[in-house]
Amino acid sequence: MQLLPFDQSLGLFPLSLSNIIRSENGDEFIGRKTSKCLFAGAALVFSMAGHAWAASAGDRQAVEASLALAEKAIALRSVVGPGNQTPQVAQLFRDALVAGGFSASDIAITPYRDTAYLIARWPGRDPSLKPLVISGHMDVVEAKAEDWTHDPFTPKMEKGFLLGRGATDMKLDDAIAIETLVGLKCAGYRPRRDIIIAFSGDEETAMATGAIIAEKLAGAELVLNVDGANGVIDEKTGTPDYFAWEGGEKTYADYRLVVTNPGGHSSEPRPLNAIAEMAEDILRIQHYRFRPEINDLSRGYFLGAAQWEAAPIAAAMRAFAAEPTDEAAIETLSADPSFVGRIGTTCVVTEINGGHALNALPQRVTANVNCRIFPGHSRAEILGELKQAAADPAMTITDVTEGSVETPASPMRADVVGAIEHAVHGVYPRVAVFPSLGSGASDSMWFRSHGVPSYAVSPLFIRNSDSFMHGLNERTPVASVGPALDILTAMVTELSH
Ligand SMILES: [Zn+2]
Repeated sequence: MQLLPFDQSLGLFPLSLSNIIRSENGDEFIGRKTSKCLFAGAALVFSMAGHAWAASAGDRQAVEASLALAEKAIALRSVVGPGNQTPQVAQLFRDALVAGGFSASDIAITPYRDTAYLIARWPGRDPSLKPLVISGHMDVVEAKAEDWTHDPFTPKMEKGFLLGRGATDMKLDDAIAIETLVGLKCAGYRPRRDIIIAFSGDEETAMATGAIIAEKLAGAELVLNVDGANGVIDEKTGTPDYFAWEGGEKTYADYRLVVTNPGGHSSEPRPLNAIAEMAEDILRIQHYRFRPEINDLSRGYFLGAAQWEAAPIAAAMRAFAAEPTDEAAIETLSADPSFVGRIGTTCVVTEINGGHALNALPQRVTANVNCRIFPGHSRAEILGELKQAAADPAMTITDVTEGSVETPASPMRADVVGAIEHAVHGVYPRVAVFPSLGSGASDSMWFRSHGVPSYAVSPLFIRNSDSFMHGLNERTPVASVGPALDILTAMVTELSH
């Protein structure tokens, strides 16, 4: 293994290892060195002791192929609405897979409304085994050229970064996933179980294609979702600090609150005013605190991530992990917006609408309360709690959530946890690896709703201050690509060999 400091590597590791590839039963052969074979120089080495596949440093060609594919994908405006080019991204990815040795008949692009989704299957040696799915999405969040420093759909390399909408979320990850499989295929790897690439086409909006994909692949063994949960590079030293993978996420929910009133002339006010009533209800909800909670994932996160936080937060994280009823710890963590969502369900008012004329008593007020529910609770349960918190029998509350499903956290499977740790440590032996609980919603929720464990494991490392997902001037360090190819290669092989 090359163990270069991150900044020194630039992601283009020298090729120093042999081309010997060993299969699980000890057979070995030489990686084919054809000009087509991107991983030809980068050997896969099977470690007998650790029972883990590990890749050598990603080679220059694989890095360049990943970047070129990502750039082509970024140039396609795969944004929901008229002119959505997600179907073209799917074709681009299909072409890359076919050029890399996939059979065209194993790849399906299915149009859906203005978008499309892609499912590509690499058949394994043992058809009785359930497939390993690599999940991602091809659509991106809208980006306006006038707001960016350059056109978000004209990819650009600048100062060691790939810039463009999708550079982080998540066209570069898609490209790395594709080049990982192409490299493995080229090197002669033959998975025991099927490996399936499943890319959705509307993850950033309706999330309908993710639901369809998960239903089709409901018999899968497990999912590696390369969307989100990437590694983190230290702000000061520029070296990788930790890799926090996600094994669960909070459930997204929207509730509509409605207060009605007969109304009347504003010159004749009544004691009960619909706007005032709603205001009081909302304040009671605002002050309501859901019970603090912890699970294996968030406990692992608090213990693993504490060392990078300021002393008071770190102490509170450790105290909460040890005893989730610790009042002082709860108070400290609740006061910090980046931690309050990690210790339980949160709900917040996001919209309000009411009244119909400047000189009339309001007849109707509506408000939206957005909740992020801790795994293990149903949306109906939280609706009941909100009703109790508002303590207003005249207020109606309805679950109006769209495109979300409540899911349990995926189990901390030893094989998966091991594969993630081996993969990251194969490239960065001293980097901390620990689980976490996602606060946003991803396609993982659809798989989990079918009982298929799903783990978010984007192999890219990035500084938190460089992360502009969904925001302006999105960019990802190019130096991260080589290690990311190695990490994903190791994960995929360990879970499919
Ligand atoms: Zn994403």
